[in-house]
Amino acid sequence: MKKLLLLAVLLLNIAAYAQNERPKLVVGIVVDQMRFDYLYKYWNRYGNEGLKRMINEGYQCKNLQFNYVPTYTAPGHAAIYTGTTPARNGMIANDWYDRKKGGMMYCTEDPSVATVGAATVKVGKMSPRNMLSTAVSDELRIATNKKGKVIGVSLKDRGAILPAGHLANAAYWFDGESGNWVSSTFYMNELPKWLQDFNAKQSALTYLKKGWNTLYPIESYTASLPDKNNYETPFKGKAEAVFPYLLDSLMAKNGGQNLIKATPYGNTFTKDIALAAIDGESLGKDEITDMLCVSFSSTDFVGHQFGPDAIEMEDTYLRFDQDIADFLKQLDAKVGKGEYLIFLSADHGGATVPAYLMDERAPGGYMDYKPMEDSIKSALKNKFDATDWYLDIQNDQIYLDESKIRASKHTLETVEEYLAEKLIAFDGVHSITTASRLNKNEYSKGTLHLVQQGFYGKRSGNVIITLEPNWMEYSKTGTTHGSPYSYDTRVPMLWYGWKIQKGETALPYFINDIAPTVSWLLNIPFPNATSGNPIPLPINK
Ligand code: ZN
Ligand code: ZN
Repeated sequence: MKKLLLLAVLLLNIAAYAQNERPKLVVGIVVDQMRFDYLYKYWNRYGNEGLKRMINEGYQCKNLQFNYVPTYTAPGHAAIYTGTTPARNGMIANDWYDRKKGGMMYCTEDPSVATVGAATVKVGKMSPRNMLSTAVSDELRIATNKKGKVIGVSLKDRGAILPAGHLANAAYWFDGESGNWVSSTFYMNELPKWLQDFNAKQSALTYLKKGWNTLYPIESYTASLPDKNNYETPFKGKAEAVFPYLLDSLMAKNGGQNLIKATPYGNTFTKDIALAAIDGESLGKDEITDMLCVSFSSTDFVGHQFGPDAIEMEDTYLRFDQDIADFLKQLDAKVGKGEYLIFLSADHGGATVPAYLMDERAPGGYMDYKPMEDSIKSALKNKFDATDWYLDIQNDQIYLDESKIRASKHTLETVEEYLAEKLIAFDGVHSITTASRLNKNEYSKGTLHLVQQGFYGKRSGNVIITLEPNWMEYSKTGTTHGSPYSYDTRVPMLWYGWKIQKGETALPYFINDIAPTVSWLLNIPFPNATSGNPIPLPINK
C-alpha cells in the first residue's frame, strides 16, 4: 500500500512537471528585414487574427535594438538564437574574407557535406559549423536528452540552419532550381517521407502561376509611394516595377522558381512547410518541448527589390499578416491554445531608399569603394613601398595581408592607423576604427561598442569603416541594411502564448536577450556564450 502511494505521488509529480513547466512547442519566428515601424505603419490594414492578435494578447518589447554591426541576415539569426553577438558566435557577416582560404567564406558553407533532396550540388553544401557557440535550440536538445525535436525552415539556408543550431534534427531550405525544399548530409541522408510528398506537389509553380496583384484595390495603399516611382528595381523582363506581375512569364529571366522569394508567396510557402513539419514530425504532440524555428525571408527580398515605401512592401506585409493569422489558427488546432510559446523578431531592419531621401533634401548617399581601394593601394605603395598588402574590402572592412606586414619592418598597428587616418576624408565615411584598437580597448557604449560586438579578430578586417546615416554601397533603387543606425537596429519583439501575460514595455532590450529569455522560460541553460540577459516578461504562475 505504501509503495503504491509512493508510486502515485511520483506519477502525479511527473505529470505536474510535464504539464506545467514547459510549453509543448516553442515557435521562433524571424521576419527578415522587418523594421519595428511596419507593425504600426500598416496597423489599420491588418486583420484581428494575425500580428494584432499577438500584440493584443501577448507581450511586446517596443524598444528592442541590435547591439552590434553589421546588421545582416546571418549575424541577426545567430544573435537571436545564440544570445550573443558576432564577437562571440563568429557570425560576423553573410560572407567574409577568409584569410586561410585566401577568398570568400559563406556563413553556412561546408564542403564536407552534400545536398539532400535535389540534384543541385552547391545548394546543400551547408551546415552550422562556422557558428562558434551554441543556440538556445541546442540547449533544448541537450536539456531534453535529445528527446525534444528541433527543426528549422526558411527559404534561405542561413535562415534555417543558424536558428536550428548544431544539434538540430533538421534544417530545410528552398532550392529554386529543383523547386524542392532541401537539407544536407549534416542532418540526414534522405528527406523524410512527409517532405518528399510536400516537394512532389511543386507548390512554388502553383503560387507563381497565380501572378501577383494587390490584395485590395491599389488606390487603398495610401501608406506607400505611388506604384510607379523612381526608387524600385523592376524584375528583369518588365520595364517598370508596377502591378500586376505575371510571375510565370517573368520566371525565365529571374532565376526560375527562385522568383517566388521576392513575392509574398514565398512567405506563404514557408508557412506551408512549417505546418507540414509540425504534422510530419509530430511537433508539440507530447509533453517534451519541441522547437520550430521559422524564418520568413520574402520580406527581405521584396525590401531589397522595391524598398520600404513601395506598395509591393505594403502588400507583402498585409499578406504576411494573413499568413500569421492562419499559422496561429493552425497552431491552436494542432498543438492547442496556450500550449505553445511564440517569439517573433527580425534579423535586422532596412534603410529608407537613400535616393528618395536625397530627392527630399534629407541626408543619405551612395558609397563607391572603388576609389577608396585605389587610394589604399597607392597609400601602401607610397608610404610603405608595399604592393601586395591590400587583400579586399568586404562589409565595410579592409582586409590586409597580416603575415606580410608582420614580416616587414612595420607593425600591423602602424599600417592600420595610417590607413584609418588617410581614409576618414572620404565622403560618406562617418568614422573609422582598427583591429588594433578593438583588441586593446573595451568600449561600453556608442558606435565603437556596436563595432566591437560585431568584431571577431580571426574573421574581421583590419580597418573598419562606419558610413554616415543612410549611406550605403548599393544600387540607387531598392534598399539594404547593415548599419548601426535605428532603421537597421530597431526591430519588433513579440512574445505570445504559453503563460505570457498581455503587456508592453518601452525599456531598452537587446537582440541577444531573446535566447536567454527563452532559456529562462524553459528553465534550461543559457546558450554557452550568452552575453544578453532574460527579459523579465510577466508570466502566469
Ligand atoms: Zn536578413
Ligand atoms: Zn537583406
